[in-house]
Amino acid sequence: MTIKYIFVTGGVVSSVGKGVTTAAIGRLLKERGFTVAVQKLDPYINVDPGTMSPYQHGEVYVLNDGSETDLDLGHYERFVDINLSKVSTLTTGQVYAEVIAKERRGDYLGGTIQVIPQITDEIKRRIGMVPEQAGAEIVLVEVGGTVGDIESLPFIEALRQIRSDVGRENVFYIHTTWLPHIGATNELKTKPTQHSVRELRALGISPQMIVARADRTIPPDLCEKIAKFCDVDPRGVVPMPTVDVMYEIPLLLEKLGVAGYLMDMLGLEERKQPDWSAWERIVKSARKEKPAVRVALVGKYVELHDAYMSVKEALAHAGLALGVQVEIDWVHAAELEKGRGWEEVRAADGVIVPGGFDSRGIEGKIAAAQYARENRVPYFGLCLGMQVMAIEFARNVLGYSEANSTEFDPASPYPVIDLMPDQRGISEKGATMRLGVYPCQLQPGSIAAQAYGGEVVEERHRHRFEFNNAAREAFNEHGMRFSGVSPDNRLVEIAELAEHPYMLGTQFHPEFLSRPTRPHPLFVAFVKAAAERAGAKVEANVSVESNG
Ligand code: GLN
Repeated sequence: MTIKYIFVTGGVVSSVGKGVTTAAIGRLLKERGFTVAVQKLDPYINVDPGTMSPYQHGEVYVLNDGSETDLDLGHYERFVDINLSKVSTLTTGQVYAEVIAKERRGDYLGGTIQVIPQITDEIKRRIGMVPEQAGAEIVLVEVGGTVGDIESLPFIEALRQIRSDVGRENVFYIHTTWLPHIGATNELKTKPTQHSVRELRALGISPQMIVARADRTIPPDLCEKIAKFCDVDPRGVVPMPTVDVMYEIPLLLEKLGVAGYLMDMLGLEERKQPDWSAWERIVKSARKEKPAVRVALVGKYVELHDAYMSVKEALAHAGLALGVQVEIDWVHAAELEKGRGWEEVRAADGVIVPGGFDSRGIEGKIAAAQYARENRVPYFGLCLGMQVMAIEFARNVLGYSEANSTEFDPASPYPVIDLMPDQRGISEKGATMRLGVYPCQLQPGSIAAQAYGGEVVEERHRHRFEFNNAAREAFNEHGMRFSGVSPDNRLVEIAELAEHPYMLGTQFHPEFLSRPTRPHPLFVAFVKAAAERAGAKVEANVSVESNG
């Protein structure tokens, strides 16, 4: 089949769910038997978001191959249930780095290098790599930011050119906009959408579909108005009010006939009947009154929930599978250090310490781990959270009061977490961590092995520091076992307390492999332990399998 391209741009404002919409459309097509890949074009100059603060950008999502990417890639993987690779992520920084390297090699034979054609050609080359490398028939390409941004111009121009390169019957343009609500007159306004479409047209692209987002119900006459004023077929106007259950979006788009219109326009025939039963079950379960399980998430960027997007989703997936409502209390680790925020921790049925870097709040996290261990509250440590659990154990069980990670105290006399030998001497920050999937061998009979129900699993990593093997024996003797290690036994991957309802930490990030229909086994085990503490009745109904 000829490769089909669906391009998604945004207008009016950003952060209105363009990524989720793109992901959901991917699911509509996958449900009809097509192989789908999704790519995100990010117009910023950074080579990847790996060096950006989560305050700027939200979570850094990690792929199997170790690419550090935008959190939208997480939505794509969760909704379409695919594993993406580095071709699915592209930034202005990467494009320029490549073009400048070629120029330095002399590849352009004396030519002047310009945005058109060299930069746009490089963007097109990288878009063209997706179907080939991912083996996909349909490629969805989402452009970050909003139309009108200076940085996105070369990307929009590349998308425009692709229409003539591959034939207009093989491309489809979607524009996602926002309808503001005016309180005084209690109405939604389409004018910004009209302006934004006009701006896109000025760049040579006429959208064939407009996904109109709003915080309330969008009346049909408004859709007609958008169709008329923006010159889009009425079938191409998709009203998308904000919903409380994100996983309902594919079902809503299905009801609105989005897939049918897309396929008509791209000349595609449905290969199989979509089966939405699993998604309907998820949405039904999400809407149902369920016993609440309180989880205190102790982190550094807790004001910005996007910084923990995958953790939040993985907890939700586990809750849905178990028939409980996971309520997250966002606790600032630095506040705990000042004695504030402990009510949330004390009220919690489980404590989770997610990944993180640098020393701010670290003592608060250690104190939260101590509280969880001593009070037998289920604890789940993700990457840094596992390191925190080890530091706490060394200090308060083994009695090394100055135990620490050399990340926070390079002079610690008991460096229970230390730099990996191959990380010493690295000074560059970008893409130099231990990144991507590595195998982990599970210890038979351990809590981890029981949860996974297997022997070897593969999980995604993003860290520089490791458990210090010199401390392994002392830990073992005092009840902390290393139930997951690298197959050569050199690296600790999972630590767990034998005598505790659930105190387990992973050096990897299990949250990146949790999917709504396939919750991650360790999240399920954690939420189950927390539910038991809460006295909630668990009605597990989803079979759990690992991605290993
Ligand atoms: N800062 C720690 C390390 O580099 C943990 C990283 C993380 O939590 N992702 O090892």
